[in-house]
Amino acid sequence: MIFNIQRYSTHDGPGIRTVVFLKGCSLGCRWCQNPESRSAEPEVLFDARQCLAGCTRCCQVAPEAITRTADGRLDIARGKLSASAVEALVNCCPSQALAVCGENRTVDDIMQVVLRDKPFYQRSGGGVTLSGGEPFMNPELALALLRASHEAGIHTAVETCLHVPWHNIESCLPFTRLFLADLKHTHAGLFKTWTRGSARRVMANLQRLAEQGAQVVIRVPLVPGFNANEDAVRSIVDFAAGLPGVEQIHFLPYHTLGMNKYALLNQPYEAPGKPLDNPALLTFAQSYAHQKGLAAILRG
Ligand code: SF4
Ligand code: SF4
Repeated sequence: MIFNIQRYSTHDGPGIRTVVFLKGCSLGCRWCQNPESRSAEPEVLFDARQCLAGCTRCCQVAPEAITRTADGRLDIARGKLSASAVEALVNCCPSQALAVCGENRTVDDIMQVVLRDKPFYQRSGGGVTLSGGEPFMNPELALALLRASHEAGIHTAVETCLHVPWHNIESCLPFTRLFLADLKHTHAGLFKTWTRGSARRVMANLQRLAEQGAQVVIRVPLVPGFNANEDAVRSIVDFAAGLPGVEQIHFLPYHTLGMNKYALLNQPYEAPGKPLDNPALLTFAQSYAHQKGLAAILRG
């Protein structure tokens, strides 16, 4: 189950890359800018602004879940949408008001897309990046894609939150050249409150990855109210600097570009409504990381 393949990306690892987005994540970060990626199942996104007055196409496809109300609104009872109804809704909407996110694709099919840009990878030092969601939540697909890319001579990277059992990662180690690994916080309680997950699990996996000699870049989203303060940054950088072989840390200031997607999924948005605006903290983060021997990069 994937939800996108993005070609010509320059933000997800070195060079020009094709990014394959796998669906499903074991965390529920409040600030997640890809909320459509979190469920492992296909999901319906609905934009009422694009819905055509008088149209009932989707109502006819899924009458048990989608109806027109007396005042002309479209009512979607998401809990009543069966898997077969969601499948039938793919390409049903003439105006893109209703879209289904997530599709089953074979490894061969995905690799055909990835291989198309091999000359660009070679010239730019790029390759393929698995992203998500959390790619290691689907270890069979991740392994198959990484192995096939590796065997085709393509550089491989994985963007990961590392909140998975170690064995999901371990099988992919021989075929993964670069891990772009999140370290969102070191404080167990705050991590749990804001992501619903375990900081200990993430940190243990990071430690093991580094000890196995994997190439790891640490990525830190800086989120107001969560970790966008000097104490949190200090503790994250201290942990990262203590990992053998880790040389780079990327700071990603919080933004709200994905906020609208929550409305499309009919989910509440529980993170701050404004982007991070704290230049002093960004300066501190970079200089503290340098002080600890890490190359620090700010990413938009
Ligand atoms: S098919 Fe699209 S335009 Fe038609 S009612 Fe459904 S969401 Fe609206
Ligand atoms: S780990 Fe990434 S994909 Fe998963 S919920 Fe958090 S921000 Fe979203």
